[in-house]
Amino acid sequence: MPTPIRFDNSYIRLPARFFAALAPTPVAAPKGVRVNVALARDLGIDPDWLAGDDGVAAIAGNALPPGAEPLAMAYSGHQFGHWSGQLGDGRAILLGETVVPDGRRYDIHLKGSGRTPFSRGGDGRAALGPVLREFLIGEGMHALGIPTTRVLAAVTTGESVLRQEGPLPGAVLARVALGHVRVGTFEHFAARDDDEAVRILADYCLARFYPALAEGPERYARLLETVIARTAALIAKWQCVGFIHGVMNTDNMSISGETIDYGPCAFMDVYHPGTVFSSIDHGGRYAYANQPRIAQWNLARFATALLPLLGAEEPAAIAAAQTAIDAFPAQFDAAYLAGMRAKLGLAGAEDGDRALVADLLERMADRHLDFTNTFRDLADGVDCEALGDWRDAWAARRARGATSAEAMAAANPVYIPRNHRVEAALAAAYEGNLAPFDQLLEVLRAPFERRPAFVIYAAPPAAHEVVEATFCGT
Ligand code: AMP
Ligand code: MG
Repeated sequence: MPTPIRFDNSYIRLPARFFAALAPTPVAAPKGVRVNVALARDLGIDPDWLAGDDGVAAIAGNALPPGAEPLAMAYSGHQFGHWSGQLGDGRAILLGETVVPDGRRYDIHLKGSGRTPFSRGGDGRAALGPVLREFLIGEGMHALGIPTTRVLAAVTTGESVLRQEGPLPGAVLARVALGHVRVGTFEHFAARDDDEAVRILADYCLARFYPALAEGPERYARLLETVIARTAALIAKWQCVGFIHGVMNTDNMSISGETIDYGPCAFMDVYHPGTVFSSIDHGGRYAYANQPRIAQWNLARFATALLPLLGAEEPAAIAAAQTAIDAFPAQFDAAYLAGMRAKLGLAGAEDGDRALVADLLERMADRHLDFTNTFRDLADGVDCEALGDWRDAWAARRARGATSAEAMAAANPVYIPRNHRVEAALAAAYEGNLAPFDQLLEVLRAPFERRPAFVIYAAPPAAHEVVEATFCGT
């Protein structure tokens, strides 16, 4: 039999203090739920193997696939602005990595796979709902062109997990990412004054994520600048689709520039800059409009951790770090404005474009307009009366430079993972019915193409369907 996953593991070759080597904890009665067939094929993994007994046992943690070298990654981080000096994978296991034909290396990572030395008070497990939620939102983000982890497969465990809502069916997911190194991984070693580890980790990230920069004495400054640029581009994409991550702690900010750790995240329906969904975000720290500022704050923690690598003299290193961090707002702004110009079908760049966008958003907030549908209506030529004389300013601007209707449609999704639809799919799944999950997934995989059968998926929630808060499921 051919090897089901061609592992080629690198993280486990790092020094022992980077992780705890341990296997997932077996579960009582594993059962396959869903396999991401397209993703499996892209990775050269046979989807039939994944869906069969051996694949299910591998994801459940009951049988290690050949070549896996399981470990829990060590990291720390700032949570809601406060330092947590020891986090780490408390319910996740990196099985190993696989390299696809184009040379890209992906982590194969389990979540909900049992306790680790980093579990603290947690049970190491995940419930079915959050696992399917991560599946839906990850695929939705991917189809929207946003760098993200993706779920490869989900299984149930035959065990129940106790959560706020009561006992829930347990589940494990396998997810795939360019990498799970976080800002918090760097902070972990910097906080221990372990300059050697910070250097090893930086060289590892350069070689793995940014090989073009991996040589020369300036490589650490380049790493910092590149992670800043990637993150600015990522957050701009979030803002352009109304995605709210919910827990932008530094342990949830990836060095590879991907969206990771889907917890209480959600897409906005009605536009309001202060929108918060996370049930644990009482102060609104991670509200929609704060995301760029928070990303910059997180990147400043990254820069601080890198200081020993940025120069032998501390003042010079601090100055270099500061310059890099100060570049974030302009980079974010440029990416955001480019994204908004595309959404509004504006060709070329004019000084007034920023104000045109701001005016639109203000009116959307005042009039409680749906974020996704307002933009798509503009793309579809619907006359949005609620926008008043903004329409004249927009038309005048478009008269001086406009993109095609097709280009505009391609920048404005019809379908996003609307919270009420996600919650309905999860509720049905808890009742044993995966049909709503399957259909929502199909809708989300082609978000730009309006399909008559799917009208309800473009509709904002009715008053009684509005979801006020989302939970991590921890
Ligand atoms: P998160 O908020 O999901 O990014 O998690 C923050 C930290 O809590 C990480 O160290 C997680 O591994 C850990 N954690 C979250 N949920 C659990 C759980 N059920 N059991 C053990 N550790 C957990
Ligand atoms: Mg996390």
